[in-house]
Amino acid sequence: MATPYIQPHSADVPNERGYYGEFGGRFVPETIVPALDELTAEYEKALADPAFQAELAHLQKTYVGRPTPISYAKRLSEMLGGAKIYLKREDLAHTGAHKINNALGQALLAKRMGKQRVIAETGAGQHGVASATAAALLGLDCHVYMGSVDIARQQPNVFRMKLMGAEVIPVESGSKTLKDAINEAMRDWVTNVRNTFYLLGSALGPHPYPMMVRDFQSVIGTEAKEQILEIAGQLPDVCIACVGGGSNSIGIFHAFRDDENVELIGVEAGGHGTATDKHAARFANPDISRPGILHGTRSFVMQNEDGQIRETHSISAGLDYPSVGPEHAYLRSMERAFYTAATDEEALAAFRTLSETEGIIPALESSHAVAEALKRAPKMSKDSVILINLSGRGDKDLDTVIKILGDKLG
Ligand SMILES: *Cc1c(COP(=O)(O)O)cnc(C)c1O
Repeated sequence: MATPYIQPHSADVPNERGYYGEFGGRFVPETIVPALDELTAEYEKALADPAFQAELAHLQKTYVGRPTPISYAKRLSEMLGGAKIYLKREDLAHTGAHKINNALGQALLAKRMGKQRVIAETGAGQHGVASATAAALLGLDCHVYMGSVDIARQQPNVFRMKLMGAEVIPVESGSKTLKDAINEAMRDWVTNVRNTFYLLGSALGPHPYPMMVRDFQSVIGTEAKEQILEIAGQLPDVCIACVGGGSNSIGIFHAFRDDENVELIGVEAGGHGTATDKHAARFANPDISRPGILHGTRSFVMQNEDGQIRETHSISAGLDYPSVGPEHAYLRSMERAFYTAATDEEALAAFRTLSETEGIIPALESSHAVAEALKRAPKMSKDSVILINLSGRGDKDLDTVIKILGDKLG
């Protein structure tokens, strides 16, 4: 039999209760537990069903445009004078980022479970757009919770969602941003769990979400491993991805987890610098970030002494979240993956450098991963290989960058 598109149980984590070592699990109201159990069971059944696997594979190919290519960044590599840099081009997936891989997988599962109503949360609107896209494709009703502050600053994405028939529900509580939108989506799910599927956007939340999102995103690494062997003739020495909630990074890391010679590097949002309190680098500073519980899972959480969630900052909305997927906390504790940060300034410089040398305008999120490669490549030998997961394209960020660079481009 052909290898299934998504391989069930391809890692030793999580355990049956959803734990990755001491991280993960389920910290939710009693009323959601049966829904999470149902979801876990239906997900397992779907993966074991060749028809589900075939439909997902077919749509990934004919709708999303997979496999996405790997590009050799020749001019960038030569400029840096060290390692050869390769880019996994998730920016070329439909809707311009990796998020569609997960949204499509979960939407297909919702349809299979007979749940016509789909809810999602969104920060900058990228996951909202991916969800609205998948819902339009499959004929599902889509409702997206979004903080009113985010709605005001992300009008194009709000319009995209509405164009595709989704309802955007403004959230006025708390800081009126992503974490409040997640709270509202969970509240909705508790109330309407019978007919509603919660389409969660990153490798976060209560079990089985972190596992399910990882599995749906693992197609990135599965493809990349085969492609890099063919194009570069070797596995990468270093694989670099940016880490917001952690879905594009876990998606590319997963295929390499048993290849001990592949160094896995996650890059968090360093904002104004990790010594300040204006960043979203959950692993960088034990004074302001430590293990805790947020949105149903145990992981590293940015919090004050009393456990109040801290405000975070990043130039890139997709990395601006106070917690991180539990599998990353686990990989870090096992020293299988290492985490670092790039500041807003470094990300912006990388955004320009990749645009100028390769004709590829990266998302500001992805620019954090590029920034780390800019630091490392010159110190590595010319026959070594860096693989960057280019999680998305930068068109969505042009407004932000125009405000900063505007007249400096000459
Ligand atoms: C949302 C987003 C991210 C961050 O989310 P992860 O779950 O950490 O992958 C990164 N890059 C792009 C382009 C995004 O849209």
